Amino acid sequence: MAHLILKLEGVNKSFDGYKAITDLNFYLDEGELRVIIGPNGAGKSTMMDIITGRTRPDSGAVEFGRDIDLTRLNEYQINRLGIGRKFQTPSVYTEHTVFENLWLSLEGPRSVWSTLFSRLNSSQRDRIEEILKTVGLNGKSSWNAGALSHGQKQWLEIGMLLAQNPKVLLVDEPAAGMTDEETAKTGELLVSLAGRHSVVVIEHDMVFVRQIARKVTVLHQGHVLCEGTVDDVQNNERVIEVYLGRKKRGEHA
Ligand code: ADP
Ligand code: MG
Repeated sequence: MAHLILKLEGVNKSFDGYKAITDLNFYLDEGELRVIIGPNGAGKSTMMDIITGRTRPDSGAVEFGRDIDLTRLNEYQINRLGIGRKFQTPSVYTEHTVFENLWLSLEGPRSVWSTLFSRLNSSQRDRIEEILKTVGLNGKSSWNAGALSHGQKQWLEIGMLLAQNPKVLLVDEPAAGMTDEETAKTGELLVSLAGRHSVVVIEHDMVFVRQIARKVTVLHQGHVLCEGTVDDVQNNERVIEVYLGRKKRGEHA
């Protein structure tokens, strides 16, 4: 039986009286790839903020692995436990090469200077080569990161997360702004990471969701509306009503 790696139970969060997260329950298995969908403002990013310690919940349990209470830890401590987050916009060091970006990301935080003036050992080099291959940038190792396309920057940033060898990867709308081809490659990459990592992906693009998803969680008004396969959620009457904004099947507009 799979083990839980993340557990959110009865989580609530208000901003100035507005309930962004209400009684949220969310369970993620080790090695799972989960996709989260939901309309704008549903609380998807806030949920990631709560997991990563960027936002403190008002109430509820947020646990990692066996009983590690994430609500007591800060962002840095949570990251060090092995929870990596990728925000929507890529943040790479544009003046450094692809290789250097990955080097800088190995083994947690160090300064740019201390890294670039230290020597790279062969196991670090192997690890970087392996990540370059995983994210499909092996031919771009010596490129300045600033010269990469938007999609390639996103892959580099996923590589930078992998350099920290996270147990859980939280990825917020990776396909936004990508070409169809880049989107498909991103899907393959995320699918390939599941198993070794537990991956949570927030995404809008239903073609992409269909490509990668095994299990989908639909968030609505800070709460789980339904969970299941892509077909389950796309055929769910409540999802059709509130998320897809369509009339029930059989009714005419
Ligand atoms: P989603 O990612 O699903 O589009 P968000 O989690 O970003 O939605 O936002 C959910 C709601 O919470 C929104 O109404 C948003 O304005 C509000 N919200 C999120 N973060 C903050 C914050 N730090 N301060 C105030 N309001 C916030
Ligand atoms: Mg968001």
